[in-house]
Amino acid sequence: KQNERESLYIVINYAAEYYRDMLWNHADGKAIGLSYFKERGFTDQVIKKFELGYSLDQWDGFAKAASAKGYSTDILEKAGLLISKDDRFYDRFRGRVTFPIHNVTGKVIAFGARTLSNNKKQPKYINSPETEIYHKSKILYGIHQAKQAIRNGDNCYLVEGYTDVISLHLSGVENVVASSGTSLTDDQIKLIGRYSENITVLFDGDAAGLRASIRGIDMILEKGMNVKTVVFPEGEDPDSYSQKLGTTKFQEYLQEQSQDFIKFKVSLLTSEAAGDPLKKAETIREIVESIAKIPDPIKRTVYIQECSKILEIDESVLISEQNKILIRQN
Ligand code: ATP
Ligand code: MN
Ligand code: MN
Ligand code: MN
Repeated sequence: KQNERESLYIVINYAAEYYRDMLWNHADGKAIGLSYFKERGFTDQVIKKFELGYSLDQWDGFAKAASAKGYSTDILEKAGLLISKDDRFYDRFRGRVTFPIHNVTGKVIAFGARTLSNNKKQPKYINSPETEIYHKSKILYGIHQAKQAIRNGDNCYLVEGYTDVISLHLSGVENVVASSGTSLTDDQIKLIGRYSENITVLFDGDAAGLRASIRGIDMILEKGMNVKTVVFPEGEDPDSYSQKLGTTKFQEYLQEQSQDFIKFKVSLLTSEAAGDPLKKAETIREIVESIAKIPDPIKRTVYIQECSKILEIDESVLISEQNKILIRQN
């Protein structure tokens, strides 16, 4: 087993080098992959920092190169790099730009890969499957490149996508990781918690992004982490908006728009419930549910006080509602 893990690291690392080589040195890689990244505003420097690459649009270009190197198709398949069908092997990643996913110590363990075609039948991103060395729910994209900055800044920005992480680095914001489109797991929250107990969630500026993230955040509160959020204009994500504003304005935007998550949730729900007493009652219950997740009783008290003001409702009402929930939880 130990040997197998070592072999997986070796072939995945080889694949990362291979895709990178294609991007920088192969005619197709340069014309298609590299120019794609350039169009997105990525610099040579950041492309190298994230070891981005390109997988040729061929059935088994990588399979052949790896076999010629002496790597067994068995291990290549177990690493998720090849797919076998009818006793033949073909490349999992074809005609896509590749984003190596690193573990905390900096070893490549998997890939995300984005299509460059507008063919809607193709999934926009595909990922390596779960392997002996890659457990999607335990890792966050960018953690290796971010960990020191998270510690130094005592805050971790959380975004949805690979390109959000990379564009934030371009904007001088290096304490950032991506959940890769799914809501955070316990293990991922603990991973961030090794470096800081402060998380700032950067929602994509669409209703779906907002809703999905809100649901996930109670879990972060439950772990005792402090959560802030920044909302982006409709249709923008951290990548597009940072490219639009440029470094200075974008950093200012993050500073100015960071708001406490619970206060944000209160104002969002309150505005949605405007004028409807029953909806307001429901809002209050939802807010208190969030507050009740916070393990620290002092923080809970502060939030109860704040929310009582915003919601124009007596503290005692919120406290008794909270106590009901706390009793139910224990
Ligand atoms: P881009 O800017 O390249 O279009 P994005 O990161 O903004 O990509 P979103 O649609 O916002 O893309 O999705 C966020 C993240 O969710 C992606 O970075 C990717 O990790 C994941 N994702 C998106 N679409 C898919 C898909 N079809 N299959 C698997 N994961 C996906
Ligand atoms: Mn989105
Ligand atoms: Mn996005
Ligand atoms: Mn995007």
